[in-house]
Amino acid sequence: MMAAIYAADSGADVTIIERNSSCGRKIRITGKGRCNVTNDCSNEEFLKIVPTNPRFLYGALNFLSTEDTQRFFESEGVPLKVERGQRVFPVSDRAEDIVSCLVRACKKRGVRITEGRAESILSEDGEVKGVTVGGEPLPFHRVIVATGGSSYPRTGSDGDGYRLARELGHTVTEISPSLVPIVSRSKICGRMQGLSLKNVGLKVIDKTSGKVAYEDFGEMMFTHFGVTGPMVLSASAHLSGIQSGRYEGRIDLKPALDEKTLDGRILSDFSKYINKDFVNSLSDLLPQKMIPVIIELSGIDERKKINSITKEERARLVSLIKALPVSFDGFRPIDEAIVTKGGVSVKEINPKTMESKILSGLYFAGEVIDVDAYTGGFNLQIAFSTGALAGASAAEN
Ligand SMILES: Cc1cc2nc3c(=O)[nH]c(=O)nc-3n(C[C@H](O)[C@H](O)[C@H](O)COP(=O)(O)OP(=O)(O)OC[C@H]3O[C@@H](n4cnc5c(N)ncnc54)[C@H](O)[C@@H]3O)c2cc1C
Repeated sequence: MMAAIYAADSGADVTIIERNSSCGRKIRITGKGRCNVTNDCSNEEFLKIVPTNPRFLYGALNFLSTEDTQRFFESEGVPLKVERGQRVFPVSDRAEDIVSCLVRACKKRGVRITEGRAESILSEDGEVKGVTVGGEPLPFHRVIVATGGSSYPRTGSDGDGYRLARELGHTVTEISPSLVPIVSRSKICGRMQGLSLKNVGLKVIDKTSGKVAYEDFGEMMFTHFGVTGPMVLSASAHLSGIQSGRYEGRIDLKPALDEKTLDGRILSDFSKYINKDFVNSLSDLLPQKMIPVIIELSGIDERKKINSITKEERARLVSLIKALPVSFDGFRPIDEAIVTKGGVSVKEINPKTMESKILSGLYFAGEVIDVDAYTGGFNLQIAFSTGALAGASAAEN
C-alpha cells in the first residue's frame, strides 16, 4: 500500500492486486492488535538493530525515515504516541486505524484495489509486461512484488512471492523463522504452562563457545512446548544454528536484587516462617506455580523445617532464583514466526531504487526481500521504506 501511495503521488496509474478480500490483514494482528507502526529512532540507530543486510536498507531509510513515516500517518489523520523502547503506536491502540488509513490514502489517490492472486509475472525481452490473475494476463509497465514472507500464512503471505521471484530467475536465500517461540526439552516448562513472568532477566548461553548469545530484561511466558513472550521472540533472532543442547536460557527471577541482597530477603522470609516447612516459605518470593519446580531443583526436602535449612542449601536456592536453567532446543514452525528470515537476495536488487537487477521494470518491497529486524516497529518500517522507494522509482522510470 505504501508503494502504491508513492507511485500514485509520482503520477502513476496504480493497481494493487491483493488475494484477500481486503488489504492489510497481517497489519491488523501486529503489536497484539495495537500495531507498533515504527520506532522513533535515527537511521543510524535503526541500521544497528537490523541483523540481516542493514547496508542494503540505507537508501530506503534515507528516502522514508521513521520520522517521515510518523509524519505520514499523522498527516493522514492517525495521531501517534511513543512508548518504552521508542516504539510508536496509534494513540487509539487500534491496528485497524493504520490499515484503514493506508486504504483511505490509496483510494484518495485513485489507486485501484483488485481482489485476486498474482499467479505469475509476465516478461518479454528482459522487461516486465504484466501479471496473470485468475488465468487472465493483465498488462502493466512496472510490477512491484510486495507479497510478504512465509509466516502466519492465513494472513495471505504464504511465501508466494518467493516462487514468483524464482520463476523470473531470482535467487531466494534460505527461509527460516525469526522472532519465534522456542521449543524446550526442559520438563519444567510444561509444569509451569501459562505462567507469565514480568520484569525478569534472560541470558542465553551458547554452550559450544561459552559466550552469551543474548541478554535482556522484560517479559516471557512458559507454554506446553517451551517458552514464548516478547523477550523470547527477540532472543530467537540471535540464536543461529539452534539445535538441541546448544543453547541454555538462564532466567533471573529477581534482577533487581544481587545475590547478597536476595539472600538477605530469603533470610527475612525464613524468619517470618521460622516454624513452617520449607514448602510454605516461598510464596512471598515466587509465583505459586513455580514453587514446586524451584523446590525440586533445589534438592531441599519440601518438608524440611525452615530453622534447619543450611547456608549451603540457601546458597543453592539463591543461585536457582538468579539463574533458573531452561534448555533452548529449537524454534516453533515458521507459521508461528513474527517474521521470515531470508528472501529475495539483496545482491540482485538495486538498493537505490528497489528494482530487480535481473528483470527491468520489476521491483521488490517489504518482507519478501532478504532483510529482517528485531521487534520494536522495525519490520513494518522496512516494509514502508522499501515500499515507498520502490513505488516512487517505478513511477519515475
Ligand atoms: C503476529 C505478528 C505481529 C507483528 N507485529 C509487528 C509490529 O508490531 N511491528 C512491526 O514492525 N512488525 C510486526 N510484525 C511484522 C510485520 O507485520 C511484517 O514484517 C510486515 O507486515 C511485512 O509487510 P509486507 O507488506 O512486506 O507483507 P505483508 O504485510 O505480509 O503483506 C503482503 C500482502 O501480500 C498479499 N499476497 C501475498 N501473495 C500474494 C499473491 N500471490 N497475490 C496477491 N496477493 C498476495 C498478502 O495477502 C498480504 O496482504 C508482526 C508480524 C506478526 C505475524
